[in-house]
Amino acid sequence: MSDLLTREEYEAIAASLVLPCNAFIGGSFRPAASGATFATVNPATGVKLAEIAACGAEDVDLAVAKAREAFEDGRWSRLHPAERKEAMLKLCRLMEREAHELAVMESLDSGKTIYDCATVDVPETIHVLKWHAELIDKIYDQVAPASDDHIAMVLREPVGVVGLVLPWNFPLLMLAWKIGPALAAGCSVVVKPAAETTLTALRVAELAHQAGIPAGVLNVVTGSGSAVGEPLGRHADVDMVSFTGSTATGRRFLHYSADSNLKEVVLELGGKNPCIVMDDAEHLDEVARHVVNGAFWNMGENCSAASRLIVHRDIRDALMERIEAEARQWNIGAPLDPSVRIGALVSQAHFAKVAGYLEQVGEGRVLMGGRTVDGAFVEPTIVEVPDNAHPLAREEIFGPVLTVIPVASFEEAIAVANDTEYGLAASIFTANARRAIRGARMLRAGTVTVNSFGEGDISTPFGGYKQSGFGGRDNGIHAHDQYTQLKTIWLDLSDPSGSAIG
Ligand code: NAP
Ligand code: MG
Repeated sequence: MSDLLTREEYEAIAASLVLPCNAFIGGSFRPAASGATFATVNPATGVKLAEIAACGAEDVDLAVAKAREAFEDGRWSRLHPAERKEAMLKLCRLMEREAHELAVMESLDSGKTIYDCATVDVPETIHVLKWHAELIDKIYDQVAPASDDHIAMVLREPVGVVGLVLPWNFPLLMLAWKIGPALAAGCSVVVKPAAETTLTALRVAELAHQAGIPAGVLNVVTGSGSAVGEPLGRHADVDMVSFTGSTATGRRFLHYSADSNLKEVVLELGGKNPCIVMDDAEHLDEVARHVVNGAFWNMGENCSAASRLIVHRDIRDALMERIEAEARQWNIGAPLDPSVRIGALVSQAHFAKVAGYLEQVGEGRVLMGGRTVDGAFVEPTIVEVPDNAHPLAREEIFGPVLTVIPVASFEEAIAVANDTEYGLAASIFTANARRAIRGARMLRAGTVTVNSFGEGDISTPFGGYKQSGFGGRDNGIHAHDQYTQLKTIWLDLSDPSGSAIG
């Protein structure tokens, strides 16, 4: 569905949507055991969308029990791979059929633009799920080298019951990055979406059930991090947790694991991603487009956002002129208007955090933007800072704020780029092949792009060096490693009687 509708058509869809509001446990919607609810709002307007079940430890226990039952009886974990694949592909077809509705639901709940939801989030989510579904019946196990009297098999088994704790910046896409490989592997999952953005995860769970993914295999428990995320992280019957979000919260999951059952933990965390532009970079108009897209796409609410522009002094003026011209095209407005590129920040709390950074310019110089609009939006903002020690160069802002740091050499550029506790993504623009390759090797980041800015695609692993990640990678065939464990089976073929073969 790459065709965009008009704003009026999107608004009509918004008015007719039936929003899910209960947790999805064991194949059906249920209110929280306590009966409690919390409001989810449209951050662009402040208008309440729905009251959502505010679950707690009791609901987590029930969801984990349902997931465990499903896993142990093999209704999904031991289903023929081709049948698992078919059910997941059917889910993709159901999602394609209601792609417009999912895009509108995502936009309303998160403040993201309908343009992004309709052209990236929804189609990419479906693509990711299809990619993992297609892999199910194409992964082979191994036979190890062993003596003639033995066969040593190295098999992958699903890890079991998995907790998936999600952020609010790409609610559908992060769901797909995690349930795609987890369900493909045969695991049963308990998803905890971010409280700000629960709607699409609930709808996908319902569609998955309709597609034939059995009850108990995909559960969604709604509620806050402390009421749902923590009990899931501490649960003795959860075998593994995969988390995306802030480094501070990610760190807690290691404690939860250490204090409970040593469950496996995979963390995808924050970033303060450098984008180096050397003096020999070609096609500066194109470079400017990449930098602006990297910095301001999804309002900068992106762990792999290009948040630090490290530019050689000799081309600083030529590049900044082009970047500012490009950034002026990124208009702020109603997220359901398909001509709008900058929507609302996800919540009042997050808006206040980003607005707080705009107060911290200090020694820096605002080159563009710097203001908030209507209490929910932030202008695309560019701030030049004297050096990498400035707070805007060190902390993950998660808003549309690009920090510019001029440098005098390749060596300085690499040193500044690596001077961060994070290591998620990095990029380097240069026409010099030696610098490009040396730079790509020297940058301490999980993904490095040369002459573009991005995070790769579903076929390549995504994750962080240093405090940007822990324990594994999302995406690519490598994501399946998170959700499987290795089983060695030795077969002894020797005949103790010593009789002849046969
Ligand atoms: P967060 O706290 O890391 O939230 C991520 C998920 O963890 C949410 O589902 C959250 O639940 C849950 N959670 C929160 N506290 C928890 C706890 N004590 N135990 C278990 N689970 C818990 O992120 P945030 O507060 O939404 O955003 C803060 C900052 O994190 C952002 O400003 C940004 O810098 C960073 N962030 C990074 C990414 C990324 O993709 N790497 C994504 C989002 C945010 P609730 O939110 O429902 O309470
Ligand atoms: Mg919301």
